[in-house]
Amino acid sequence: MQSMSAQESERSAVERREALKEVFAQARGCVRCPELAATRKTVVFGAGNANADLMFVGEAPGATEDEQGVPFVGRAGKLLEQLLGEIGLARSEVFIANVLKCRPPGNRDPLPVEIDNCQEYLHRQVELIQPTVICTLGNFSTKLLRGDPTGITRLHGQPEVLTLGRRAVRLYPIFHPAAALYTPRMLETLREDFTRLPQLLALGAPDQSPETLASGEHPRFGQPPWVKEMPEAVPEAPPKAERTLGEEQGSEIDQLGLF
Ligand code: URA
Repeated sequence: MQSMSAQESERSAVERREALKEVFAQARGCVRCPELAATRKTVVFGAGNANADLMFVGEAPGATEDEQGVPFVGRAGKLLEQLLGEIGLARSEVFIANVLKCRPPGNRDPLPVEIDNCQEYLHRQVELIQPTVICTLGNFSTKLLRGDPTGITRLHGQPEVLTLGRRAVRLYPIFHPAAALYTPRMLETLREDFTRLPQLLALGAPDQSPETLASGEHPRFGQPPWVKEMPEAVPEAPPKAERTLGEEQGSEIDQLGLF
């Protein structure tokens, strides 16, 4: 039988987008964090190009995102969009997601248990979108994806290759745009770090050969237990008659232009 990575990499962008819709459908009904499930208005799964080379991972939705069901649509989002524009990229070309898919009440920090509950969705997004570069915005996503407590102040602007799940990616930690909104010095640094993104993207995907991945050459994070529990990664499409929920959600994704 083929290995998972071979299966995943052979899937077309269309198949991977369909699979992403299924993961969205699962996330929308998620009640793993009872408090978040009870207080959220929407599940903010992520938005953008489902086949993007560049993926951003923020912290958690705020009030505006919770209202609209779309990440980074408030003031921090406007800044992110502006910085993207300055390097010649549109929001629709990248994929934007968060560590948490639900808004923590009062915009409090995500709790460790919530990060743990939600990380499966982020890992599935990374597996299906197959980005070349993942730009982590701020501490929460940087610490989660690196599997290490080193903070963003030390790491920002320094790309590294690491293995996430079954793929090698270029991780690029930068400051969170919300932090830069209030600190001009930080905004300057964020802008400088942004200008290095095109060069990083131009390098293309890191070596994905099984030998390199197995060699431990790149730090490995993201072989969480659920990987073993989901051998087929995404369930087969159910028979037509049972598809109403997925189809509704799929068409909503298309109508809203989420991804
Ligand atoms: N901050 C985040 O981290 N994510 C959002 O979606 C909005 C603000």
